[in-house]
Amino acid sequence: MNGKFDPHNASSDKDKEFDGIIRPQELEDFSGQDKIVANLRIFVKAAKLRGESLDHVLFHGPPGLGKTTLAHIIANELGVNMKVTSGPVLDKPGDLAGLLTSLEEGDVLFIDEIHRLSPVVEEYLYSAMEDFAIDLVIDKGPGARSVRISLNPFTLVGATTRSGLLTSPLRARFGITCALEYYDTDTLVRIVKRSASILKIGIADDAAYEIALRSRGTPRIANSLLRRVRDFAQVVGNGEIDLKIARYALDALNIDKRGLDAIDNKILRTIITKFGGGPVGANTIATAIGEDQGTLEEVYEPFLIKEGFIVRTPRGREVTELAYGHLGIERGTDPDYGQQSLF
Ligand code: ADP
Repeated sequence: MNGKFDPHNASSDKDKEFDGIIRPQELEDFSGQDKIVANLRIFVKAAKLRGESLDHVLFHGPPGLGKTTLAHIIANELGVNMKVTSGPVLDKPGDLAGLLTSLEEGDVLFIDEIHRLSPVVEEYLYSAMEDFAIDLVIDKGPGARSVRISLNPFTLVGATTRSGLLTSPLRARFGITCALEYYDTDTLVRIVKRSASILKIGIADDAAYEIALRSRGTPRIANSLLRRVRDFAQVVGNGEIDLKIARYALDALNIDKRGLDAIDNKILRTIITKFGGGPVGANTIATAIGEDQGTLEEVYEPFLIKEGFIVRTPRGREVTELAYGHLGIERGTDPDYGQQSLF
């Protein structure tokens, strides 16, 4: 731990405790993603009316947009229990069998990072999802036989940041698929104000707006910035968050005015300085910045495109004037470009 502020990462015990307090518990408290919320409201109601388990649900989208929160809300609204696990944790079919057989009728099983399930476990999941049954192999060697065990009907809620990595047989077994989008600033303002009121932090409207603006369209980042800004308000100010203290704190934390993080800026800078602003292929950018291409395409790029820093063209990615302005680089004066160029 180097004490550096990483708003993407909220995994300390304190963060989890804070998360538990401010996580919306009902659809009513969940701001934004209006279409998804409206649809889920209907699907949950219909399942309850029929007395059946809800169809399996897949949430996909970048980190911190509310996939886990929605899974909790679904279980709450259905009035059932939820068991939580994640793709990399389930490395043997036996781990999954233990979880599945412990589910009561209508319960929710939440699998985070479902794209990271091992193929054997994934195959096991197919019959569980489709027929609410699993085949357990007992004994080894020549005496091995398989016994079919039926399960209580349940709802699998899967979450992934990398929907492209999901196999088609798994994807096809989800009746409901929801793509979460980045949040607009007004919605993030609502989220910041709601969290501030739960935590009893006084915050001015323009300060909430400033935090929302710099949150990369992501509620997790908005909440985490709110906490850090509160620290500044308590130590440097009078405990209340006003615009001045919010700006002071956000600048001290090196939070970019447009909410871009270090990797976002690295992507833009690399396209400009190494590739003359583009067009350049995603795999080439990924190699140049040392990131996985899928993560680049599914986690970072969507926000940069939404905010107008990058455009996708048939020949690859290109940065826009906005990116040059943001980094304070004049087009044509790209610092390194040309040095490695063959032209
Ligand atoms: P994901 O599972 O997509 O990575 P989470 O569901 O863990 O994201 O959400 C991250 C944090 O953001 C949580 O603390 C949650 O309380 C908050 N959050 C996410 N979406 C919303 C929302 N729509 N309204 C209010 N808070 C939200």
